[in-house]
Amino acid sequence: MSAPLLYESHSHTPLCKHARGEPAEYAAAAEARGLKGIIFTCHCPLPDGISAGVRMAPAQYEHYVELVAAAREKFAGRVDVRLGLESDYYPGVEPWLEKLHARHPLHHVLGSVHPQVPEYRARFFHGDWFDYQQTYFRHLAESAETGLYDTLAHPDLIKNEAPAHWDFARIRPHLERALDRIAATGVAMELNTSGRQKAIPEFNPSPTMLGLMRARGIPVVIGADAHDIRRVGADYADALRTLQAAGYGEVSFFLDRKRQTVPISAALASLP
Ligand SMILES: [Zn+2]
Ligand SMILES: [Zn+2]
Repeated sequence: MSAPLLYESHSHTPLCKHARGEPAEYAAAAEARGLKGIIFTCHCPLPDGISAGVRMAPAQYEHYVELVAAAREKFAGRVDVRLGLESDYYPGVEPWLEKLHARHPLHHVLGSVHPQVPEYRARFFHGDWFDYQQTYFRHLAESAETGLYDTLAHPDLIKNEAPAHWDFARIRPHLERALDRIAATGVAMELNTSGRQKAIPEFNPSPTMLGLMRARGIPVVIGADAHDIRRVGADYADALRTLQAAGYGEVSFFLDRKRQTVPISAALASLP
């Protein structure tokens, strides 16, 4: 095992009301799992009470920044703790996020289309799952084009909304059009290991979609989407081997919102 190299690039805090454990405990878990650092990317506050049950309130944002800063100080010299954000995308949210992202320097901004959010579903689901899947991938491409995001999180999350209606061959042309648009922006996409706990138990995205991303040269960031200390850095070795199988030679993460790359062989050697 060589020196730690990797970061947990997607992790949460109790402020989102559905994650457990304090940032310091997550940082300790990152250290124990042979990671160099951890980036907190809790769910962003949104306007008009949208999705308020699963995210910090707008007034709590400063507290979030302070929580992460305190963990950073506590773990100085042991684990590199950084501030990031998981910011939802839906058409019209852009001005809100522009202001939010400018308030404090961020290291990694995840862009998420969350089809399970009730307000999103009420606005975009009209009774046809295939139509909803197309809307999801269109919004994913739009999110990349806003320039607000470094990495698109769990980019096939929609498959878990109605697993019986997920037909990869049928959605594939729509998905490929979205990937073409995303590739043109240079924005990275996530390999999210928490997908194994969802209705369709596999990473998000699937190996097939990962291959389509590879064919377009889209960089990939690994994240465990930790809502619990046990999930910090979870399944990283598997994720790296999955990337290799899709033809990737390197893995990325963001610091200061700039993409860093590590050869997958070195990344694997850095894990205990
Ligand atoms: Zn969450
Ligand atoms: Zn998410």
